[in-house]
Amino acid sequence: MVARVTLEIALRKEFDYAIPPEFADRIEVGSRVKVPFGPREVLGVVTALVEQSTHTNLRFIANVIGRQSQVTPRILALARWIADYYCCPVEIALKSVLPDAVRKESSGWRERLYVRVLPRTGEVPKLTKRQADVWHVMEEWRELPLQELLRLTGATGETVRRLEDRGLVTIAPQISERDPYANETILASQPLALNPEQARALEKVVAAMDSLARKGGKGEGAKGRSDPPLPGSLSPFPPGPPAVFLLHGVTGSGKTEVYLQAIAQAIAQGKGAIVLVPEISLTPQTVERFKARFNSGQFQTIVAVLHSHLSAGERHDEWQKIRQGRARIVIGARSAIFAPVEPLGLLVVDEEHEHSYKQEESPRYQARDVAVVRGQMEGAVVLLGSATPSMESFYNVRRGKYALLEMTSRVDDQKMPIVRVVDLRAENRKARGVQIFSEKLKEAITQRLERKEQSILFLNRRGWSASLQCPSCGYVAECPNCSVSLTFHRAAQKLLCHICGHTAPAPRACPKCANPAIRYAGLGTERVEDTLIKLFPQARVKRMDSDTLKRKEDYRRILGDFRSGKIDILVGTQMIAKGLHFPNVTLVGIVHADLSLHIPDFRAGERTFQLLTQVAGRAGRGEGEVIVQAFTPFHPAIQYARRHDYAGFYEQEIEYREQLKYPPVARIALLVVKGRNEEKVAFWAEHLRRELEKLIADAASSKTESGETKGRENESGELDLGGLEFPSTLPPVSAPSSPIRDLVIAGPAAAPLARAETFYRYQIMLRTRQMTTLSRHLAKLSESIQLPDDVTLTIDIDPVNLA
Ligand SMILES: [Zn+2]
Ligand SMILES: [Zn+2]
Repeated sequence: MVARVTLEIALRKEFDYAIPPEFADRIEVGSRVKVPFGPREVLGVVTALVEQSTHTNLRFIANVIGRQSQVTPRILALARWIADYYCCPVEIALKSVLPDAVRKESSGWRERLYVRVLPRTGEVPKLTKRQADVWHVMEEWRELPLQELLRLTGATGETVRRLEDRGLVTIAPQISERDPYANETILASQPLALNPEQARALEKVVAAMDSLARKGGKGEGAKGRSDPPLPGSLSPFPPGPPAVFLLHGVTGSGKTEVYLQAIAQAIAQGKGAIVLVPEISLTPQTVERFKARFNSGQFQTIVAVLHSHLSAGERHDEWQKIRQGRARIVIGARSAIFAPVEPLGLLVVDEEHEHSYKQEESPRYQARDVAVVRGQMEGAVVLLGSATPSMESFYNVRRGKYALLEMTSRVDDQKMPIVRVVDLRAENRKARGVQIFSEKLKEAITQRLERKEQSILFLNRRGWSASLQCPSCGYVAECPNCSVSLTFHRAAQKLLCHICGHTAPAPRACPKCANPAIRYAGLGTERVEDTLIKLFPQARVKRMDSDTLKRKEDYRRILGDFRSGKIDILVGTQMIAKGLHFPNVTLVGIVHADLSLHIPDFRAGERTFQLLTQVAGRAGRGEGEVIVQAFTPFHPAIQYARRHDYAGFYEQEIEYREQLKYPPVARIALLVVKGRNEEKVAFWAEHLRRELEKLIADAASSKTESGETKGRENESGELDLGGLEFPSTLPPVSAPSSPIRDLVIAGPAAAPLARAETFYRYQIMLRTRQMTTLSRHLAKLSESIQLPDDVTLTIDIDPVNLA
């Protein structure tokens, strides 16, 4: 047998290696191997086993890593899909499906020395005082890590060895699992009673899981696990409509309880579940809720946690527990979508609209979309949840691709908070000057302070001011590396670039004309905090943004202080908008609601609507009040958020997207060309456009000759997710097949962020509904074009960041 291997060094090629007899029974598809390549050894993954190779003189695989194959055939198929659709080499996709700690074998299981009492016949031999002390402890504990025993008794290792010599105990290494939550006491929780809306949602999800289980017959449980056929034959997909649900539930409607009970159903069917949450909401409280339900009681299932704050060792252990099938429930951030849970019954994506599900480096995948694809490949139900669904997901509901589940009331039966919009233009005219706080907001804060209730003030910009400007000569302090103005941070007396981190001392006078009356325009959280302290000297004010959170613990500490009432007013950026629930917060103030409207992005309105709704959701029970200050108070994003009217917002927004053929009506591919020489960047961007047009024109003219290629796209079992074509899981087709009829090419032009970190950036935006085909053209383009060393091209499919 010959193993086909993709190497980690991204060569967009597979290589054949001979399998040495000693590894014959250990090498399978998905095994991680070390192979000779030129003069060195490199890591790779076995992607296929074949009878023979067309090459002669094959070299032998040097080593196999791990006892089990690390990439399961299902995950391998998913990686191929990612490579194909997101237009990257399969080895790059494979790299991201394993945590680094597992992939690089940088950490293995941790072994510790354990002391254990041996079964004994007859009397205990005579012991010294010290030995007897140790022995008494061991008699009580029977088994202890050596370190722990030494700590408890104050004895030395020598004393314990003496006990071993006398046949009383053994000292032997044993695997000791690292548990990132070992120090937390978690009390078991019982399922809560559901309200009618929750019950209806759960019922539909469970019915879909039952129906898939009957159809697939793969749910016999852990003992029936068997590896599926090779990816090439992993189609067609389970027939019938995709089992994807969009759970649209207002803040506080109890979505998590629905997730928990749906997961319980998956476990009962002998399957596992993956829950994705945005990294920022992966707080200990969130994890605790899942562990409390499943780690004890009737389930006794291990809940594994995967996120970037774990140590490499912890990540290794959590991942291995999943791979071994001991942990059947995984909760994690973006990359947990690749957790090797088998068989998989349910995939939950909470806060599905969050942009952090998109990876901003290659492979630039969108974890929510990968979840939908994975669910369909493995016959699992997908449950997307949000209070403000993305336009993409709701569009799929409207087109009948996803089923909608709605939860419109809060579990505690509280009313939605009252939202008032204040017109800052009128306010400023009245006050004859720029006001940070309107009269209404000031009154509301005073009221809360008197009633000993808490307030949250939100502003989506950190620092003191947006820019430093000279009123006499017009000078604006700009970053020397990026095409943005510098933000003034007063506490540090510095100007800071929020793109590249460049800092400069804040000048006392205009560097150009020496005018000492320089002005700080715009507003940041630092200034809001400062003004608050001046206006309300008696209030306890705390700011929460990335400037005040230097360490991991800071986040927990500030939130803890807020929860226990040590803070009256919390000021912050979107960090405070996410999923936090504080019952004593009765006022939420949004200082500048339109800040996020004025960015060069077609999603600005959607983002503003989402942000306002999320922040407003922080207003707790009783007299919840939200005050929104805005310069454009009648903007639809603000008005629909005020009325808690998601459907209304969607209807008017989709009209605008239809007109301009923006997602979700079409899909976008963004090509960004970067380099230090602007002319060169512009030249190559132009060249790329011409080459792409040529490729597509060639495909169009050759199409008539080869009816065969056209057929292939159809038979490949298109994942018709969202009605826009999604690629199949078949291996990438080497030649792009069909022409693209609806392609719109915009650019090249300087990107909105024209220069970042000293690099000039040009972009070409492509819009089409046929992204699979376009991706293949783009893959071919990036392979065939030879860019100079100092010019780079990135291809971003379905980008969320258009700057
Ligand atoms: Zn000046
Ligand atoms: Zn910069």
